[in-house]
Amino acid sequence: MRRWNGWGDETIDVPLPQHAKDYLEEEIGKASPLPDARLEEVLAKVPESRLHDHPLISKDPEVRLRHARGQSFPDWVAMRSGNIGVFPDGVSFPESPEEVRELLSFAKNHGVVVIPYGGGTSVVGHINPLRYPSPVLTIDIGRMNKLLDLDENSLIATLGAGVSGPDLEAQLRARGYTLGHFPQSFEYSTLGGWVATRSSGQQSLGYGRIERLFAGGTLETTVGTISLPPFPASAAGPDLRELVLGSEGRLGIFTEIKIRIRPLPERETFHVLFFPDWPTGLQRVQEAVKSQANLSMLRLSNKAETTSFLRLGAGGRMLAVLEKLLSLGGAKDQKCMVAFGVSATRKLYRHALRQAKKLFRPSAGKAISHLMGKKWEENRFRSAYLRNALWEAGYGVDTLETATTWDKVEPLMKAIEKAISSALAPQGQKVLVFSHLSHLYAQGSSIYTTYIFRLAPSFEETLERWARMKRAASKVIVQFGATISHHHGVGTDHRAYLIHEKGKQGIAAISAACRELDPAGIMNPGKLFQ
Ligand SMILES: Cc1cc2nc3c(=O)[nH]c(=O)nc-3n(C[C@H](O)[C@H](O)[C@H](O)COP(=O)(O)OP(=O)(O)OC[C@H]3O[C@@H](n4cnc5c(N)ncnc54)[C@H](O)[C@@H]3O)c2cc1C
Repeated sequence: MRRWNGWGDETIDVPLPQHAKDYLEEEIGKASPLPDARLEEVLAKVPESRLHDHPLISKDPEVRLRHARGQSFPDWVAMRSGNIGVFPDGVSFPESPEEVRELLSFAKNHGVVVIPYGGGTSVVGHINPLRYPSPVLTIDIGRMNKLLDLDENSLIATLGAGVSGPDLEAQLRARGYTLGHFPQSFEYSTLGGWVATRSSGQQSLGYGRIERLFAGGTLETTVGTISLPPFPASAAGPDLRELVLGSEGRLGIFTEIKIRIRPLPERETFHVLFFPDWPTGLQRVQEAVKSQANLSMLRLSNKAETTSFLRLGAGGRMLAVLEKLLSLGGAKDQKCMVAFGVSATRKLYRHALRQAKKLFRPSAGKAISHLMGKKWEENRFRSAYLRNALWEAGYGVDTLETATTWDKVEPLMKAIEKAISSALAPQGQKVLVFSHLSHLYAQGSSIYTTYIFRLAPSFEETLERWARMKRAASKVIVQFGATISHHHGVGTDHRAYLIHEKGKQGIAAISAACRELDPAGIMNPGKLFQ
């Protein structure tokens, strides 16, 4: 069973080792956990539903609670405190496009707000009901999860939009294919959610972001069905696929999605190396992307992240041995970690790995590079579970991300870190902040920053601490003219900043498109723009 107030499956615990707790205490101080609300207490707060009865709609309090919040930091505070605020009035689990059409027509006829729901892994408030005067119906697409067609000649697969990452890959792998889209939320996030938020997987360097993998499909809107043909390319005016990508549930509901697939790689491995310092690392990874090295994944951690990764991951003798080994290889106290993946045919694999190792000279850790890469692979989706352990130890953790051109990457990364770490200084609170470049392009990179801080003595104050850091970082991102999100999307948390990159006319054009397909304004109002 999925946790109702945290991340992941209830049977999976990823504990925080003692050496990690010691490190956090050393860096930001000893923490105290906050008392969690009990499920029964929160269920007692679910109000009477305002929805008319419908055979496809559940008004069960627990189902409504489990669809009330996503995975943003404010969502965590709401779930752990039990102060959820607003609940959907009902939840539906359609199994066909006909049922989705039936539900949209019901919503239109009764003036009901609709929230399309995939896996509920949004980290920016996408799926939360706001205080609308009308009743709210959340439409969970999760039962539309089958492989419907596989065109092996065109390399296009059609799937129900509610398919989760593991189910999608299992169905493709059984036929020898992969999509290659692996966000860290892979376990629960869905194909429809990826398209609706413009998601990016960990191996985007090799496979591309979701917009490159999205070939077309069907969108059910309140005024009719839109079919998006899977043309390999088209010059027939603006491409509607670009319009629906990132639409965040405002235009309609994806029922079926066509994706561009590839044969499974014959060999795939991941590796970790350590550069002696940041300038060397930055130069080498830029060379790798500019020379189109055959890598499926590439990420460069800064010095702070490298230190935290080592200190949180290893302690005692093991850490000492590791540090010694890296130091002998020339990676000392300024070292920066690079993680990369090679996914290729058997024939190309050897060449690609040799080329990468050559490109990443000078670096240390060759003897353990494959071993550490294997560890990275094992934990690539499990590390999300650490959020539970950190919270229970009294620490809050959140991440934010942006992207910009190479000229601004380094100064922006430093400015974001400084903004976050000084945001709580007036309260005398320290913050552990570190970053990595997670998705690299010839023109620039995304910057992914993690910040860990102590929970305050109350939930309200904890939320205020988070808001100070988030505001400070978002302001810096806007000042640099970078994007407010590289892959998490807009939702409610980034909405106020969108004007800076789209401009007044841009926002007007987006809202006009929404008005055209949703004249009654019932599709996920208040998300993406006001
Ligand atoms: C631990 C963790 C790690 C994460 N790592 C990544 C990462 O590596 N890369 C990344 O890109 N994101 C990541 N995210 C963010 C999140 O997983 C993505 O935004 C994801 O794409 C959301 O998918 P979902 O199915 O959960 O959508 P939901 O959260 O359910 O919905 C998100 C938005 O999409 C809309 N939507 C969902 N399904 C449909 C549909 N069928 N039709 C129309 N609209 C729909 C919703 O209305 C909402 O506006 C992470 C989140 C967490 C909690």
